[in-house]
Amino acid sequence: QQYVFDFSQGSKDEKDLLGGKGANLAEMTKLGLPVPPGFTITTAACRHYLETGTEPESLAAEVGAHLAALQENIGKRLGDPEDPLLVSVRSGAKFSMPGMMETVLNVGLTDISVIGLAARSGDERFAWDSYRRLIQMFGRTVLGIDGESFDERLEARKKIRDVDADVDLDASDLKVLVEEYKDIVLVESGREFPQDPRQQLDLAIRAVFDSWNTERARIYRRQERIPDDLGTAVNVCAMVFGNLGPDSGTGVAFTRDPATGAQGVYGDYLPNAQGEDVVAGIRNTLSLADLERLDAASYRQLLGIMETLERHYLDLCDIEFTIERGKLWMLQTRVGKRTAAAAFRIAAQLVDEGLIDEDEALSRVSGAQLAQLMFPQFDASAPRELVATGMGASPGAAVGKVAFDSATAVAWADAGEDVILVRRETNPDDLRGMVASRGVLTSRGGKTSHAAVVARGMGRTCVVGVDALRVDHGQRSFSTPDGTRVVEGHVISIDGSTGEVFLGAVPVVPSAVVDALHGNGESEAHDDDVVGAVLRLMNHADQRRRLGVRANADTPEDARRARQLGAAGIGLCRTEHMFLGPRRKIVERLILARTAEQRHAALEELRPLQRTDFSEILEAMDGLPVTIRLLDPPLHEFLPDLTDLAVRVAVGEATGKPDAEAAELLAEVQRLDETNPMLGMRGVRLGLVIPELFALQVRAIAEAAAELRGQGRDPRPEIMVPLVAAVQELEAVREMAERTVADVARAEGVELSIPIGTMIELPRAAMTAHQIAEAAEFFSFGTNDLTQTTWGFSRDDVEATFFPAYLEKGIFGVSPFESIDAEGVGRLVSIAAWEGKEQRPDLKIGVCGEHGGDPESIHFFESILLDYVSCSPFRVPVARLEAGRARA
Ligand code: ADP
Ligand code: MG
Ligand code: MG
Repeated sequence: QQYVFDFSQGSKDEKDLLGGKGANLAEMTKLGLPVPPGFTITTAACRHYLETGTEPESLAAEVGAHLAALQENIGKRLGDPEDPLLVSVRSGAKFSMPGMMETVLNVGLTDISVIGLAARSGDERFAWDSYRRLIQMFGRTVLGIDGESFDERLEARKKIRDVDADVDLDASDLKVLVEEYKDIVLVESGREFPQDPRQQLDLAIRAVFDSWNTERARIYRRQERIPDDLGTAVNVCAMVFGNLGPDSGTGVAFTRDPATGAQGVYGDYLPNAQGEDVVAGIRNTLSLADLERLDAASYRQLLGIMETLERHYLDLCDIEFTIERGKLWMLQTRVGKRTAAAAFRIAAQLVDEGLIDEDEALSRVSGAQLAQLMFPQFDASAPRELVATGMGASPGAAVGKVAFDSATAVAWADAGEDVILVRRETNPDDLRGMVASRGVLTSRGGKTSHAAVVARGMGRTCVVGVDALRVDHGQRSFSTPDGTRVVEGHVISIDGSTGEVFLGAVPVVPSAVVDALHGNGESEAHDDDVVGAVLRLMNHADQRRRLGVRANADTPEDARRARQLGAAGIGLCRTEHMFLGPRRKIVERLILARTAEQRHAALEELRPLQRTDFSEILEAMDGLPVTIRLLDPPLHEFLPDLTDLAVRVAVGEATGKPDAEAAELLAEVQRLDETNPMLGMRGVRLGLVIPELFALQVRAIAEAAAELRGQGRDPRPEIMVPLVAAVQELEAVREMAERTVADVARAEGVELSIPIGTMIELPRAAMTAHQIAEAAEFFSFGTNDLTQTTWGFSRDDVEATFFPAYLEKGIFGVSPFESIDAEGVGRLVSIAAWEGKEQRPDLKIGVCGEHGGDPESIHFFESILLDYVSCSPFRVPVARLEAGRARA
């Protein structure tokens, strides 16, 4: 097995083996761009080392052979006392992990070769600057010495010389620093800084291997869902020098603006600097326009290369470059990361430029990015005071008063205030406070922390891991890096997409994208702006997709909004809220009815109300299917609280004025009380025990449809029976429903055909889909309940308790309530869908759980050829886009 490849041997398609950096260095070499020569040690070598603790046996010899070839090629030798070759030893995994792993520059400098380098370059300062950088980086990375020790000496030296910038130190200062640094190495690591260049190289390679497993690298991988067993490649690259004086320098550039997507190059340049100086922010950088002034020839060449790269990669590229005495060198490129807005704009631009087609453009954007653009955002033009940045864990723009505990958050929210709950980290006790708050901010934890998982589940804006903030729960305050103290009650603003934390209230504006998707402002959209780009890509997704997209909507307003956002009907209209509010009283009478007359009276009171509920929704969705789910929750949810009633009864007795009504209700509530209501008398079970309830609903649906039909409209209700486990249950309801619909049709003198189907949300239903399809005209997978009943845990109980631990341990990559568990729950869905269609080829099959709006799940539902997904109105555009992407 070959473990080392020359840059001239690889290509961009070999990221698995060569890592992203190595593959792209090879690609640039192949394109004839000015890349310093070098070679890549494969990820396979790293994996071998990580598994066994030693490098592959043949590695040393292979490195030796490639090093010899490199020396031959350049005409310099590593460690040569007259004219030394120096190399960088750079990490680079398959997936970019910016700043997570290590790189060592200037490997090959020693006490002797530094003098040769000084003589050859004619620049003594440069040689000693390079050497002190090597000792510093090697000390930190290879020998594990705290970087502070070196920084302190550097700062002290600047103080002694009374200068501000590193570049103001001269050769003699740097010589002193080198001596000091070598002392630090000796004291801190117990060994001399190695003077054998090959040993430097081998130790640096090993250190890069090891950097795969640093804690921050592991945490980053978990967050980005990068597998832990890939390993990193190591790139050994001949050094070029940006620190050789004012006609040298180093920079980073993007072929388009990665923040806004604006056309035109964008970048930072730092004269007389090396490597990470640009991003480290040690001096203020210049713009590319300044580079044009300083070195027009290199600037023009750079622009030409950027164009070559874009046309080759067909995408935004970011690059690292260095200019050594007027000669330009390319040190890295990759397809660059970008904001959501930039992603849409750039994809549309590339189509216009003829570089990619519209299908490819769809693959360049994602539903998650679209969702980000649909949240209200902080007004970009408003002033703001950024105090810290953490990780955006759940998107949105939230403004509110800081509260440090749940009780305060709840109290203030009850008083109508907007609250941001601030905690060091959250735990299940904070749940009430999180529910009450507009946003959640924690100073610890990552994207799988309790706060992040729970906030995402509830759709609360959340920023986590803002470790620059010191949260003091005792003092009920937190302090910012610049020393500002924010006490409880102060207002802050947090951005759940960018992780930014601002002091005071930043004005929030609704999303222009939502406005445009609603069909407003389309005329104002320009092809080149974000809104225009979104509309174009949505349009293409709609042409591409096979999956229908419906909405879960229970009210006429939601139905209208969903329709505007492109829903092709309602996949789930819940009816439970129609029994709450002032109607509770009627439901109570229904439940307490002693005689058939009493019961009938209560039902007759509910019927016209239900009919209006349905006719309004059917009207809003005129011409489109509306799947109405018959009553699902347990009855006692409509009755007063058990404890409240018990208190009422007790008070009545104590005061000698017994409350007979309360006592009767109490008895009924106690009778209906269940230990596990989720698995109790609900759904079709309730419908069969109290058949009048379902009959009432069916009658109201049929009457509403008949009435609208009479007005010349086109209502398309569908009746859906919840929680069916056995076909017999469905048959019983079906028999009743068909009779009722026929009754109404006869009475009203219209023809009514109302499809009757069922939810599939119990494993038994899924496993008997063959039978159930005999009695169902459609299936709708209730994947929330199906997930609960398949895993055997209840969402309300587990999301805040053990889920964070499970995510942490990697038992789930993501909560099975967020993305469908394809292996388990998804398998049930796929078996049931298959068997259902086998029994009844025209069976319509959809999904109405929250998974219907989740990108990953949508791709799964497309892969098993379901007919439609249904999701909350706001997610409809996301689902349309993802359904299109799944086919593009
Ligand atoms: P990262 O992946 O963190 O960007 P790199 O391996 O790209 O790390 O290197 C860190 C810095 O050192 C970058 O600015 C890079 O351009 C610079 N660098 C790496 N190799 C060389 C080299 N051979 N000559 C000059 N500068 C280099
Ligand atoms: Mg880099
Ligand atoms: Mg359900």
